[in-house]
Amino acid sequence: MSRKVVLIVVDGLGRAVLERALAEGHAPTIARLVDRGTLHPPCASSFPSLTPVCLSAIATGRHPDGSFIPGLTWYRRGEGRFVEYGSSFGATLVEGTLESINDSILNLNHLHLSQQVRTLFETVEDAGLVAGAINFYVFRGRTRHPLARRPLGALARRIGFTDAVYGPSRFFFGELFQSDMTGAPANIGLGGGNDRHAAAVGRWLVARDGFDFLLFYLPEVDMASHRSGPDGVLDVLGRADEAIAELVSPCGGVDGFLERYAVVLVADHGQSAVTATADLREALHGLRLFTSSRASDPARSAVALAASNRAGMVYRLADAPPAATLARRLEELPGVDLVAFVDGPGYVVRRDGRELRFTRDADGAPDLRHGRWAVTGDTDVLELETTGGAVGSLRYPNPLERLTGLLDCVNAGEVVCSATTGYEFLDAGGSHHLGGGSHGSLLATDSTVPLVTAGFDGPVLLPDEPSITDIHGLVAGALGIAPAGAARAGPVEGRTVGR
Ligand SMILES: [Zn+2]
Repeated sequence: MSRKVVLIVVDGLGRAVLERALAEGHAPTIARLVDRGTLHPPCASSFPSLTPVCLSAIATGRHPDGSFIPGLTWYRRGEGRFVEYGSSFGATLVEGTLESINDSILNLNHLHLSQQVRTLFETVEDAGLVAGAINFYVFRGRTRHPLARRPLGALARRIGFTDAVYGPSRFFFGELFQSDMTGAPANIGLGGGNDRHAAAVGRWLVARDGFDFLLFYLPEVDMASHRSGPDGVLDVLGRADEAIAELVSPCGGVDGFLERYAVVLVADHGQSAVTATADLREALHGLRLFTSSRASDPARSAVALAASNRAGMVYRLADAPPAATLARRLEELPGVDLVAFVDGPGYVVRRDGRELRFTRDADGAPDLRHGRWAVTGDTDVLELETTGGAVGSLRYPNPLERLTGLLDCVNAGEVVCSATTGYEFLDAGGSHHLGGGSHGSLLATDSTVPLVTAGFDGPVLLPDEPSITDIHGLVAGALGIAPAGAARAGPVEGRTVGR
């Protein structure tokens, strides 16, 4: 028995914010899903907890070491330049250069994202089923979609943007790509238009039962949280909830919707309030810093710095100091919580002058996700605790798997760092979200997201600490597709809906 599946991704919705919204009645449609299904234990994002990284993890089931997407901005060694995905779809279209637009839409999907992994859309359509995506920007699929002949499409064509991308057969991406004419309101990525647009397209697709799998993406909560901080998003979350209500409306509401579809609701990452900024360049003073391919030459630079939101990476270029030396410099800067790097066969993470070393070890201690690790040094660095025989951390969700998931990525810097509570790192343009919210760190506030399932046949079995990398297998399993080693849906028993 298999179900059609709708995956709802609410960008930037931390688990604590959802809990408050549910308690205060701001999200009645999500509350109904929780009531008919399961709100799972806190789910961990990827590290860094930034949207391109985490949407790639949801789409492919892999952290950066598998997806190859290590950040919002990163240094591409083969080209000697920075990749910049922009802070949002809208911001990229409005303010970005052609290169940034190409990076965030075309290159992310067709050049940077690993060819060795499959997206959900490829997994679903390779099994002969129909996949759909609304405004989700890790969309790689098998169907060619030419630029839409709408005003923004005409503008994109004029400035030399690509003439087509490959996505799922039912594909909607703002005003640029539409596989079907739905009559949805225009969406240029600004002014609350994203979630309204998604709702209209989603309702159109549900009314036609036009997919086996649909990814329904709502970005407005993240945008509002950047502006107002994570405590100021309840009204915008209420509008996201209304968008979900509109999605389910052709079925007469949540109950009717769950008779036809299994639903997974998740976020990519949470957010933290920003009360201070730090400039990682100060930690690298005296070193020749690569700034951009226009202004500097990587062959004459010692290091490249990719900092954005609450995470940073340092890349070693010509005659760079050792990673351990660079890590010590970063560690001493106020605002840096922890630093990590690879050393020989293992990994090193440091905080406040203390050091922890770890490596994968089949005979080592288990974590809450069936990983096994040999750990030496000061376990207080990650506040590791052993409960029920498994190692975990309340301060840093799924810390060992997530740190290695970045450090083993071919496109990551040799040294990575995570911001402490309240701090944000200035990006290459010196911008920040002081007074608002940000994310990217290894800390729980940025990294703990809600995971709701409803309408599944039988129980949904997940590790004790779920991860957004479990979603790919969960969706494939519910659809009756069993990719090797990834399916996590429970045994199928009858047609009971809900828990
Ligand atoms: Zn964000």
